[in-house]
Amino acid sequence: MMHKFLTKCDEALAEISAQGRYRRFVALEKLADRFPYYSVTMEGKTRDILVWSTNDYLAMGTDPVVIEASIDAAKRFGAGAGGTRNIAGSSPLHVALEEELADLHGKDAALLFTSGYVSNQASLSAILRSLPDWHVFSDAQNHNSMIVGIKDARQATVHVFKHNDMADLERLLAAAPADAPKLIAFESVYSMDGDIAPLAQICDLADKYNALTYLDEVHAVGMYGEHGGGVSERDDVARRITIIEGTLAKAYGCHGGYITGDFKVLDYIRSVAAGFIFTTALPPPTVAAALASIRTLKADNARRALLFNRAETLKQKFRDAGLPVMPSTSHIVPLMIGDAAKATEVSMRLIREFGMYATPINYPTVPRGTERLRFTPGPKHTDAMMDNLVAALQHILQPAQAVTA
Ligand SMILES: *Cc1c(COP(=O)(O)O)cnc(C)c1O
Repeated sequence: MMHKFLTKCDEALAEISAQGRYRRFVALEKLADRFPYYSVTMEGKTRDILVWSTNDYLAMGTDPVVIEASIDAAKRFGAGAGGTRNIAGSSPLHVALEEELADLHGKDAALLFTSGYVSNQASLSAILRSLPDWHVFSDAQNHNSMIVGIKDARQATVHVFKHNDMADLERLLAAAPADAPKLIAFESVYSMDGDIAPLAQICDLADKYNALTYLDEVHAVGMYGEHGGGVSERDDVARRITIIEGTLAKAYGCHGGYITGDFKVLDYIRSVAAGFIFTTALPPPTVAAALASIRTLKADNARRALLFNRAETLKQKFRDAGLPVMPSTSHIVPLMIGDAAKATEVSMRLIREFGMYATPINYPTVPRGTERLRFTPGPKHTDAMMDNLVAALQHILQPAQAVTA
């Protein structure tokens, strides 16, 4: 007889398919010398595809300086770290990267993790398991990695506040016991809608109710602020935030996650967080590449300016063409489709007919009925590429208008 779990797999997969959200990964081969072009083999044919959906926002993953740093470190130190941080896996390179990250955010110290996901999950879980009576205030649109870390601390009382809604946050803070330890967990740039949290107002509420703050700057580091320190640097509130978390895998184009904060707090997390302790340290080539990337971006405001210019240009072109661009205040350009099957279909037609790729974002990443395509134009997306994209989207989404135009 078939094992119950295998029957469950069949049923669940059939249901996911019927809802039009079966996940098919397009195998995209990044072309380092031609980024953002990738090579794709579909239906037996290989061709170059222009990718609009990378989180390598500033093209740092293919930057020659970053690639060279990675190759050089591989030759000098080998491919892998060979141990946890405790078991021969800590190198001067790891320490240098942590110092660079602490400096980036104006904090005492930094701690590296395997990924941004693990940094959130492990750190929040460690903090919220430290005392029996935590009250945590979590933005309704927080990333899964934060939610999982919060849920892991079963004794904490969890309050979910309406997304970026300061009145709702204050209502919940005021209702919680005055002497209970409190933590507010939130992001700066929310990557699905492209909106940005009011960081200074959250810090004001944290002061008023004696709460600590935990900020995920994953979609902002490298891009916002004078040195790429994120929205907390741009808004000059970094010193008011207890823990700033980030990734090396998005704008820095490499891999790994981290937190920064006070010595004492990080020393505690370093000593108790299972997701930090029981896993192999990041590979030296990755660490060296991230260091080169952060140092490059600290001094490269021109690249940041170009990113925002590219995003604003694409938003304007979408608006001019009457395409349903969502109201983003960041570098992210989401286009509302409103249906899972349609979002997938539009994405497939973009590849097949126009040689371009944009990721369909479906439930559970976003609520049902708000399925969308997400565009993240970077320094290498030209006006001409954008014009071709707009024409392709008009052809797919507004066939009637395209005929009469
Ligand atoms: C991508 C993402 C993470 C996880 O970072 P990784 O380095 O990819 O694991 C964490 N938080 C948010 C908001 C993200 O979008």
